[in-house]
Amino acid sequence: MTSPLVPRMVEHSTSIFAEMSTLAVQVGAINLGQGFPDTDGPQELKDIAIAAIQDGRGNQYPPPHGLPMLREAISAHQERFYGLQVDAGAGVVVGTGASEVLQSTLLALIDEGDEVVMFEPWFDIYSAGISLARGVRVGVPLSGPDLRPDLDRLRAAITPRTKVLLINSPHNPTGIVFTRHELDGIAAIAIEHDLIVISDEAYEHLWFADHHHVPIATLPGMFERTITIGSGGKSFSFTGWKVGWASGPTDLIAAVRVVRQHLSYVSGGPFQYAMAAGLGLPDQYFAQFRADLSAKRDLLAGGLAELGFGVLMSEGTYFLTTDVRPLGYADGLEFCRDIPHRAGVVAIPHQALCDDPEIGAPYVRWAFCKRPSVLEEALERLARGLA
Ligand SMILES: *Cc1c(COP(=O)(O)O)cnc(C)c1O
Repeated sequence: MTSPLVPRMVEHSTSIFAEMSTLAVQVGAINLGQGFPDTDGPQELKDIAIAAIQDGRGNQYPPPHGLPMLREAISAHQERFYGLQVDAGAGVVVGTGASEVLQSTLLALIDEGDEVVMFEPWFDIYSAGISLARGVRVGVPLSGPDLRPDLDRLRAAITPRTKVLLINSPHNPTGIVFTRHELDGIAAIAIEHDLIVISDEAYEHLWFADHHHVPIATLPGMFERTITIGSGGKSFSFTGWKVGWASGPTDLIAAVRVVRQHLSYVSGGPFQYAMAAGLGLPDQYFAQFRADLSAKRDLLAGGLAELGFGVLMSEGTYFLTTDVRPLGYADGLEFCRDIPHRAGVVAIPHQALCDDPEIGAPYVRWAFCKRPSVLEEALERLARGLA
């Protein structure tokens, strides 16, 4: 029998993350491919979720657009960190992770043939979401040795069919954080062409040194055209809880709500109480979180540089990017398929996150959101395997 899968989803049948994780299990490799922390977030958030279950709060369907308490906390968080005024009543929607909120947003805004412009490489669910919506993805390569947004190429990619600019900063997979200057340029293009911006800010609290995260919605003329997406999983190290949200102007959020309520309807009742508390944690939590992760970044980056990789210093996220050409590999896919056997470590090739394989060819993504002992073991294995 031929596959019953609709043709537009066939190209999304396999994911590089599944392929590499299967390989990791097969050969007993350390998996630095998958982006999840191997230590849990704050105990007090676990206690709140457990207490909510015990007390019978959130065990039945919570309100469809999110617990009022969580929507209030999201609004207060946007004000506290960014000075943004978000209507907790109608300007916020909670969903099953940033993923569902993102897909709902694409389904709500994109119709057949509408173009979504985004930087390449991208987070893999973007391209699947655009296909689900019958839209057309248009990639703009991150450019130069530092993989930065090129505003001329971005402008050149806009056509009369462009409806949405989908951006992600801090950026997965590269680990770059867009500068204020780059965001100003992107904003000017969005305004000039009257585009809606979807801003995936899943890693908003994971930036290092002075690479402060700036939400594009804070720029002049941008709030009214931007849907900003956040992830409780990423901000509080509970990626399995799957609570995410979008905030923005009420007309855009109303459109997202229409679609989202027909997907999972609601989810994560007890976890929503915990996330509301998480968003109100003191500044110390967020500073410590960044400091911990940045030490792990330094450990992995330093070790990989010593082994001869060309390391692109990560400015944010769970990830850093290396160029594998100095090690004699022609491209990242070849490297990632070989290195688990040779060294017992798994990473992800940028190539798999691009339409044009040339764009990501030299680069590999490594997750450093792992215990230092795991990162050290991975580096030792690489040292032995590559020797
Ligand atoms: C992990 C991730 C998401 C999805 O977040 P969830 O809350 O786990 O659904 C969205 N965007 C990017 C860039 C991510 O890395």
